[in-house]
Amino acid sequence: MSVVLVVNSGSSSLKYQLIDVEAGRALANGLIERIGQAEGHVQHRREDAEHGRDTWDTDEEIPDHDAAFKHMLDAFEAHGPSLESHPPVAVGHRVVQGGSRFVEPTVVTDRVKREIEQLEELAPLHNPANLAGIVAAQQAFPDVPHIAVFDTAFHQTLPPAAYTYAIDRELAAKHQVRRYGFHGTSHRFVSRAAAEFLGQPVEELRMIVLHLGNGASACAVSGGRSVETSMGMTPLEGLVMGTRSGDIDPAVLLHLQRVAGLDTDATDKLLNSQSGVLGLSGHRDMRDLVGAFESGDEAATLALEVYTHRIRAYVGAYAAQLGRVDAIAFTAGVGENSPIVREWSLAGLEGFGVELDTDRNRARGSDVRRISTDASRTAVLVVPTNEELEIARQTLAAVEH
Ligand code: ADP
Repeated sequence: MSVVLVVNSGSSSLKYQLIDVEAGRALANGLIERIGQAEGHVQHRREDAEHGRDTWDTDEEIPDHDAAFKHMLDAFEAHGPSLESHPPVAVGHRVVQGGSRFVEPTVVTDRVKREIEQLEELAPLHNPANLAGIVAAQQAFPDVPHIAVFDTAFHQTLPPAAYTYAIDRELAAKHQVRRYGFHGTSHRFVSRAAAEFLGQPVEELRMIVLHLGNGASACAVSGGRSVETSMGMTPLEGLVMGTRSGDIDPAVLLHLQRVAGLDTDATDKLLNSQSGVLGLSGHRDMRDLVGAFESGDEAATLALEVYTHRIRAYVGAYAAQLGRVDAIAFTAGVGENSPIVREWSLAGLEGFGVELDTDRNRARGSDVRRISTDASRTAVLVVPTNEELEIARQTLAAVEH
């Protein structure tokens, strides 16, 4: 059995999964929240065939990431599975921003840690928290390799025409301004799972992956490689999201700075935390938004229209970049669970060979499934994402390399 511990460290939270890579399933997972605050929270869940699924919760003060890892080790010790009988062969770390430097999963060395630190300027919220998790995990697991798996790495195959912004070249180069793209781990996992479902080699397929969660991004995948994606230098660009605007005329910001007195921080907050469907309707959660639409709320209706109109525009643009679309795959919380979003996003595309089957689209399911008609030239799929399993697979591959 090859067991990998996957760690996703945020500034005040730590998520972990112990994964049996060959079986493709988690043995345990956990969430440690409110690190550094007066009262922290630890949740540990064991998932195995013999013991079924059990969850334990405790409230305790967790001053820092070192303490969070101690709580994690204690939870494994107290509730299992035992790390002695399931020793992880490596620890895989999610790192948000790998810049142009990291194109694949990378064994963490002191130099790699310095480089992740240097990329903080591009991801000031995420990279320092990811690094804190790495440092603490190395203390807790000193004898196994630690692998950094970057959200941006899958998109390092974008051609220059797709990643270059049309601004002054020297200024852009000096400040590392370019499209990096995010959700790469998910886009990679989903594109491969879709190919497997279709029974065709990923190398021969051209597809569009729509990752619609709280954050949302589209990716054009040709022959298994990302060739275009909607998030940019930061995760703000592209699709409409829960609280982020996605694409907007940059001059709107200049205008608001002039006429509404917004400074840099207020603009950042407006676009990242107060916009998207939240700004349009007052609801950030898609379930609440759809509920409000169903009870006739006008603002919710417009928000849903704006959200799906933008997705359709990207599908059209990426179809043009790809030249042919064999499959469109919906994934993440909204993509996997919202029939209305899928239906509205692809409405009117029958002339382009995209034909949804209404019943299949509405049927619930937790596995990969086809929701297009048998006659549809483009297969439309729902593919549940599993970023932790993808990180575990890539971690194991990097160790065995
Ligand atoms: P994250 O980007 O934080 O990983 P998820 O992929 O979990 O987020 O997606 C969260 C989103 O998925 C929320 O907007 C939530 O409303 C939506 N979602 C989850 N379940 C459903 C559902 N049954 N119907 C519609 N939307 C759903």
